[in-house]
Amino acid sequence: MSSRSKFACVSCFLTAFAGASHPIPAAAADAAAAMKTGIVLDRLSQKELRQWRSIEHLIRTSRPDGTFSYPTLSGLWEWAGHSGNAIYIELSSPDCAAMGTAGKFLIERFDPQAARHVGVIRLCVGNIDRRAPGGGGTRADGFVRLGGLGKTERYAEVLGHELAHAAYDFASPERARMVHERVETVSAQFVAHRAEHGNMPLDPALLQRLEERDALLEELEAHADSIELLVWRELAKRGPS
Ligand SMILES: [Zn+2]
Repeated sequence: MSSRSKFACVSCFLTAFAGASHPIPAAAADAAAAMKTGIVLDRLSQKELRQWRSIEHLIRTSRPDGTFSYPTLSGLWEWAGHSGNAIYIELSSPDCAAMGTAGKFLIERFDPQAARHVGVIRLCVGNIDRRAPGGGGTRADGFVRLGGLGKTERYAEVLGHELAHAAYDFASPERARMVHERVETVSAQFVAHRAEHGNMPLDPALLQRLEERDALLEELEAHADSIELLVWRELAKRGPS
């Protein structure tokens, strides 16, 4: 190798090295984000990331025999990690203040190929902190929502509910399509109608779709509640940490 070509190689190396320290172009960052699967934490601030890590630590708690202490919750969390979908976690959102909810799951992007749907789990930690246990009263099955739990366990219970929605909605391409079309799309149509026409009466076709949406939401909630009960029982058995 001549000294000239040696120099050229060093120059190439330096150029490549300098390039590596440049920020990733926006298009490349978007492409990388579009490939992410599992539980995605990109939307969390540093403080929220620390809160999330404490929830994750709880989910990973195991018994002396190596099995998970909270098997229902840990099972859902493992499913989320391996389902091939992307599930973004958000611990704050304008929706939290507006709706006063403890949490929410929504399908942000439906993939017609069913390879990678994008969902969002919102945990409204401020609302969860403020909520008195047993919202809705004690049920016949003994379920006291958020009852007898410490701060992180309460977040974990709500996370269990929202993960149950995700697992149910993403269980098949047909169900994901149905939920996306009958819930997210109709809700967006309702918001658009209100923005455009204020409190003018809804047209009968939209009213019908809203009724169908609410009937489906009731079914979906009943399922998520039944899983949340299992999560709560496992958490409450060990008591607040
Ligand atoms: Zn729900």
